[in-house]
Amino acid sequence: MGMMDNHIPLWGIPHTEVLMSSEHALIVGAGAAGWSAADTLVRSGWPGPVTLVDPIGATNRTLVNKGVLTGLLGRDQVSRPAPAGSELVRDEVLAIDAGGAVHLRSGDRLVPTAVVIASGSRPRRPSFLDEADHAPEWMPTLHTVEDAERVRALLSSGSGRVVVLGAGMIGSETASLLADDGVDVTLVAGSPLPLRAQLGPAVASELVRRHRDRLRIRTGRRVTRAETRSGAVSVELADGERLEADVAIVAHGTLPHRPASGTGHGEVIVDARLRTGLRGVYAAGGVASILAHGTTVRVDHWDDAAAQGTHAARSILHDRLGAADPGEYRFESGYSSRIHGAMLTAWGVATPTSRWTRHGDDEVVGVGRHLGEITSVAGIDAPATVRSLAESVRQDRRERLQEYPIGV
Ligand SMILES: Cc1cc2nc3c(=O)[nH]c(=O)nc-3n(C[C@H](O)[C@H](O)[C@H](O)COP(=O)(O)OP(=O)(O)OC[C@H]3O[C@@H](n4cnc5c(N)ncnc54)[C@H](O)[C@@H]3O)c2cc1C
Repeated sequence: MGMMDNHIPLWGIPHTEVLMSSEHALIVGAGAAGWSAADTLVRSGWPGPVTLVDPIGATNRTLVNKGVLTGLLGRDQVSRPAPAGSELVRDEVLAIDAGGAVHLRSGDRLVPTAVVIASGSRPRRPSFLDEADHAPEWMPTLHTVEDAERVRALLSSGSGRVVVLGAGMIGSETASLLADDGVDVTLVAGSPLPLRAQLGPAVASELVRRHRDRLRIRTGRRVTRAETRSGAVSVELADGERLEADVAIVAHGTLPHRPASGTGHGEVIVDARLRTGLRGVYAAGGVASILAHGTTVRVDHWDDAAAQGTHAARSILHDRLGAADPGEYRFESGYSSRIHGAMLTAWGVATPTSRWTRHGDDEVVGVGRHLGEITSVAGIDAPATVRSLAESVRQDRRERLQEYPIGV
């Protein structure tokens, strides 16, 4: 096999004839999903090596804004040890061939008996930026420790003004963290009601209200131009308003990051047991689009990615060693965020066609239904209510499963 570069599609290189030896599990990426997959395999007594491959080691990405951007944590404090009993290799997976051989940037070729692709996501680049690989220095995304350090450096040498472009979870939380720090923040959302699709109108409106109290927010505004002027950034909105700042953080959501994908989407589509179309290869976390609810669902939250990693490992144990079938993956994890002092708690997954209703009048809680079934719950300062609604949905599902068992 000759030299490979980044543009070789994941499945695009021919099958190399190899002899499979003992059981060897290889996990691509040591973030939330990969770490849990490795941990589950080791704890379940996987009869062979468990190797995690990741160029940056095992890290907790949720601390990029809450820890590194705020200056509370240094870069070493966002990394964590690999699960006991697994091996971490600092390398990058360039390709997996049709025979299941995994090709690394170092030139090594490994031949595992099971692979979990857990390479996560990458920030979405808005159309107003050019097609270059990296955003200009003054318009960084906020995905890596390096991004957070860059924003800190730009802020410390400037006048303390930030524009946050995008008011999804990361944009909203980051705007709140910076406002807490005394930074002058303008939050710009293209949508008239950001986070409506994910959290429902009641919770989304309450978040906008809280943003308005603490910072400048512009909703339903598109960015038409962005440029630097003597070390500062100038962002022009569709209505002609011009915002000047030291840095404009681009927070336009994420796209799946399939290793070595060439053109097209980077997602890896998996069935409800997280199997790809290739025997012995599974995917979990931000890179995976799971066939569920009559569509494909991709979730990019920490606990869900970790739960998917565990599920993929259980599917491997079932498929290769005859352990119990884990059944279909269910999106039953939650996430939370402190935004302007309020606790946002959410559970499950909303789809683009989810219909939201408000739950009760005392608290701001929304319930999202997909095809008539509750699949998501969200609330502000209502963690107990969200938890108990989620528990009753779970209970309901378990009872129905006992009545009408599905799967093998
Ligand atoms: C700033 C920020 C704050 C967040 N805060 C929260 C939060 O508060 N709560 C929450 O629920 N979620 C949060 N998230 C989202 C959460 O971090 C992700 O959903 C989660 O990390 C996804 O897990 P993953 O394993 O799919 O990907 P990741 O955790 O990103 O791990 C993927 C790993 O794969 C590695 N990798 C990529 N390509 C290759 C390759 N070719 N070969 C080998 N390794 C490779 C990467 O180096 C990386 O370590 C936040 C995200 C960001 C960016």
